[in-house]
Amino acid sequence: MNAALEVRSLNVAIDRIPILRDVSLAVPAGKMVGLIGRNGAGKTTLMRAIMGLMPFQAGCMAASGSDLQKLPPYALARLGISYLPEDRRLIPALTVEENILLPAWANGIGEAAKRLEWIYGLMPEVREFRERRALQLSGGQQKLVALARALMPGHKLLLLDEPFEGVAPVLSRRLTEVIAGLRQEGLSIILSESDDTHSADLVDLVYRIERGVVTAG
Ligand code: ATP
Repeated sequence: MNAALEVRSLNVAIDRIPILRDVSLAVPAGKMVGLIGRNGAGKTTLMRAIMGLMPFQAGCMAASGSDLQKLPPYALARLGISYLPEDRRLIPALTVEENILLPAWANGIGEAAKRLEWIYGLMPEVREFRERRALQLSGGQQKLVALARALMPGHKLLLLDEPFEGVAPVLSRRLTEVIAGLRQEGLSIILSESDDTHSADLVDLVYRIERGVVTAG
């Protein structure tokens, strides 16, 4: 299988209420895939299920040939798979650099210094405020740091949950540039958005999600 990610017939229910129904999708290696659906459609649930953070009732998932359901969440980081949650969840009292390094410490990822340099190369502005505590940053800066942190383990497959949500226009443009740069670096990416506003110019293909049902196009 060449796909960076393949999801087949995934069913997720919460308290017996079906949230995802028979979801199938594939992310071809090196491509960016849009996941478009309004609030409550199931985008976050799908990403959490892929990351092993949400139990599922039926279906299977594989990333670059590895069966995801057989792996604990920390093993995904070692496979280069990472998730940017919709909320930023930085640790306020730690510095920017400590926040970025945290997944490397937590998951025993080697080459942290090399990866940090790569991340700073993609986002030079983050290098500039690396010594500041996360609580001293603006919301937009925190978003960039959260993306930087996701990139520490995420060098193969990135799941970006509504990265543009609540981001001011100037930063949206910068975020678009950074995400486009990730594609140039060969990462495979799923990017969710409630509509096509920011993703239209970025993605190679689109899936639409409505009330837990995913369709191509
Ligand atoms: P949003 O942008 O609002 O997060 P989304 O497309 O990411 O939208 P999900 O957060 O995946 O949607 O939610 C899908 C559905 O599952 C919604 O109807 C939501 O109410 C429901 N849901 C999600 N988490 C839970 C939970 N822990 N308990 C009960 N229902 C939940």
